[in-house]
Amino acid sequence: MQSRGVIIIGGGLGGLCAAIALRQAGLEVAVYERAEAWRPVGAGLSLWPNAMRAFEALGLSREVAGAGAAWRETVMHRWDGKVLSRLPMDELCRELGQPTVVVLRSELQQVLLRALGPGVVHLGAACTGFDVEDGGGVRVTFVGGQQVRGDCLIGADGLRSAVRQQLLPDVRSRYGGRTSWRGVVNVASEVIPEGTQFEIYGPGARFGICHLGRGSEGTRRMYWFLLSPAPEGGRDAEGSHREVVLNQVRGWMEPVESLVRATLEADILRTDIHYLEPLPKWGEGPVTLLGDSAHAMVTDMAQGACQAIEDALVLAKLLREEPDRVRALRTYESKRRPRTARVSELSLKAGAIRYVRNPVARWARDLLLQALPPSVALRQLRSVVGYDFLA
Ligand SMILES: Cc1cc2nc3c(=O)[nH]c(=O)nc-3n(C[C@H](O)[C@H](O)[C@H](O)COP(=O)(O)OP(=O)(O)OC[C@H]3O[C@@H](n4cnc5c(N)ncnc54)[C@H](O)[C@@H]3O)c2cc1C
Repeated sequence: MQSRGVIIIGGGLGGLCAAIALRQAGLEVAVYERAEAWRPVGAGLSLWPNAMRAFEALGLSREVAGAGAAWRETVMHRWDGKVLSRLPMDELCRELGQPTVVVLRSELQQVLLRALGPGVVHLGAACTGFDVEDGGGVRVTFVGGQQVRGDCLIGADGLRSAVRQQLLPDVRSRYGGRTSWRGVVNVASEVIPEGTQFEIYGPGARFGICHLGRGSEGTRRMYWFLLSPAPEGGRDAEGSHREVVLNQVRGWMEPVESLVRATLEADILRTDIHYLEPLPKWGEGPVTLLGDSAHAMVTDMAQGACQAIEDALVLAKLLREEPDRVRALRTYESKRRPRTARVSELSLKAGAIRYVRNPVARWARDLLLQALPPSVALRQLRSVVGYDFLA
């Protein structure tokens, strides 16, 4: 059986970034992705300065920034249009030397696939498990019984990771208590000022509006999301995503309703929000985890993918510097576990007051948002997005 060097299971953002970083570190890499083909995923992704710093290290920051739109200020509103607070992020980004960028996921994926070149990613390969061999290598098995050998195995296979399932069979993800609807739509004229993101708080729900760069024929592409409490596993009836969203935001400030109305039903996604409690371990022997498989988190700091990208850079740096692969993997885990646990905890805290429904609790939340000086929010943001993950 041919040996493939480092085997990565999962061709999501984490797996693709890890493959690029590991190849740049001089390692042989093969990525195995269960999807049969790349499907365009119609949703935006915020890439904070920590992720953009990683892309700069990979030589991709210009291309990634060019694929999306800069996000320089957040304006928080009550559902009826009252401005609760403004968070200017320009100065922080200037100080950190990196912008915050919102991109369409599928376009980011194309940038990464181009950087990787042909022959690295194998589609239609769903991993079912692995065996650690006596000589220290690892044998990975796929649906259909095919096997490959590698020196080490990175489980970058997302929330329901097969690699994690074998390492930690008792771990279950937790439901965050809310679901998300995400839409992408082209609009003819500016609906919110360029560089600005709107966050709009209503009873039990949060609506976001972001720029996503240029759309087709001179239009502007916008990304919106709605997060609101819902029972786990809920589904919208066929063809009714838009109606379900509209029922929750009727009467909210413009352009909320008009953006949702203008979005094609096929361009709306519904996804439950899950997270993992910090895991007791991320790996053993030549096996480790990366991205959501290790630390899926709620979306309230928009850091899940950013943390996966950080993981990729740290893992590649350690595998380049440390000839003992197993030791490099354990050092990677010891660096990444506390960092990702903290960001995950901050994300849970950030979400704690956002989805309150009770009018008194909402009134108190809105007062807090109005009273909180931007410098306090920026200090906390800086501790997350300005963290030196390569130190
Ligand atoms: C509503 C929402 C909004 C979000 N917004 C942001 C944001 O703005 N910014 C941000 O940083 N993060 C955000 N996130 C989080 C982000 O999407 C995830 O953290 C990120 O996609 C994780 O990347 P990953 O590569 O680890 O996992 P995934 O993207 O889940 O990729 C895993 C890959 O593994 C493949 N796979 C799974 N099982 C197998 C198997 N057995 N064999 C082979 N392949 C397999 C899957 O097909 C998939 O391609 C958001 C998440 C949600 C739900």
